[in-house]
Amino acid sequence: MRRQRKAKILATLGPSSSSPEMIRSLFEAGADVFRLNFSHGSHADHQRNVKIIRDLEKATDRPIGILMDLQGPKLRVGKMKDGAATLVAGRPFRIDLDDAPGDSTRAPLPHPEVFAALEVGTDLLLDDGKLRLRVTECGKDFAETVVETGGSLSDRKGVNVPGVILPISPLTEKDRKDLRFGLDLGVDYVGLSFVQRPEDVAEARRLIAGRAAIMSKIEKPAAVEALSELVELSDAIMVARGDLGVEMPPEEVPSRQKQIIQTCRLAGKPVVVATQMLDSMVHAPAPTRAEASDVATAVYDGADAVMLSAESAAGDYPLEAVGMMGRIIERTEADPSYKKVIHALTPEPEATAPDAISVAAAQVANTISAAAIVSYTTSGSTAKRAARERPDVPILVLTENIHTARRLAVTWGAHCVHTSDVHNFQEMVEKACRIAVHEEFAVTGNKLVITAGVPFGTPGATNVLRIAWVG
Ligand code: PGA
Ligand code: MN
Repeated sequence: MRRQRKAKILATLGPSSSSPEMIRSLFEAGADVFRLNFSHGSHADHQRNVKIIRDLEKATDRPIGILMDLQGPKLRVGKMKDGAATLVAGRPFRIDLDDAPGDSTRAPLPHPEVFAALEVGTDLLLDDGKLRLRVTECGKDFAETVVETGGSLSDRKGVNVPGVILPISPLTEKDRKDLRFGLDLGVDYVGLSFVQRPEDVAEARRLIAGRAAIMSKIEKPAAVEALSELVELSDAIMVARGDLGVEMPPEEVPSRQKQIIQTCRLAGKPVVVATQMLDSMVHAPAPTRAEASDVATAVYDGADAVMLSAESAAGDYPLEAVGMMGRIIERTEADPSYKKVIHALTPEPEATAPDAISVAAAQVANTISAAAIVSYTTSGSTAKRAARERPDVPILVLTENIHTARRLAVTWGAHCVHTSDVHNFQEMVEKACRIAVHEEFAVTGNKLVITAGVPFGTPGATNVLRIAWVG
């Protein structure tokens, strides 16, 4: 089952997409990775979904990636009297640690660490940025504010404090429990929400201990500031535009998106563009033209993947959304100007044998119009370096490590096949040709560019490039 596109699709599962039939249909329609959103759903729900996906893998013989997305330290106000109150612009409003229900003059905010970080003049955003408060006075358990933008504030609405680094771990008690559960289920990626500092990723890495890869979500201005280090320390990155767009003004988001994608592409780390991509398809069978253009922009930027959230998790048209995303990607990649646009960014090779081989493989494949690059890899790093070149031809990845195969589901242009290792050159060529034909990447007479490491079966030793004819 070969996809006719390079950029990948992540689809979030939820109430609209929890039956085995629906998950299978989403996969067939184009979902390469499924996202389990631990802000919603029970452990039993996530466990059931993982089982469905792993059964589907067996049935289709295709590796599928699973991303568990941790809720992270999402700040929320406490309860309000009668469920909600109206805040009026220009009036004073108090927030404090008192857990008595709030009203139009005050609300509980059960996060002491926020009060510790506030200063006079700091802005607090409530309910995805719909309401804005400015701090006029503060102490260790309260803040007096003036309402800058008013509106209705209801129970448990989210709170953002842009531009302030909060002294909190990105892993709450709930996250730690969820993480243990998810790792036991065998997820491939852990999504870290509200990462602020490089130490946050280091802490998660200690807890995860190699059992899954780390996808850091860039959704705080502090994370944008620390971008290079975060990219360096993470296995993958998500441009989490939902919260990022609340913490920063909307006009900042497009250039930040480009900056994050470029940094990731140069580092050879997979990057996912997320949130509201086809938002109107939550309730409509077709997107707005602006949304179609948004997906295309991420593809022209050279992102590894684009993501659906509510569209596939809780919307009325999950299948249509995945199908539409796939068609937009295919059409964009077929645009004659696409190659020029994505090759405007040309990463410098690193002075290593694997990089030299990966760069050469992309060049040779283009020059001889090969049908595919076939990359033998154990850790997946050679495949990621090949993808970093954004070659014109697909990358057929052969690996005996199922975790590598699943993790590469997010990587641009990579089609992974889980297969046993080879032991000599003849086997290497024969197997590459046989699988390339079987997976519909090549027919008799086509050329393949094969990369591998000799001696065979030793990880991290890519040092061979071989051109083969499919006989
Ligand atoms: P979320 O993250 O959907 O978990 O909030 C993505 C985003 O903020 O864009
Ligand atoms: Mn978010």
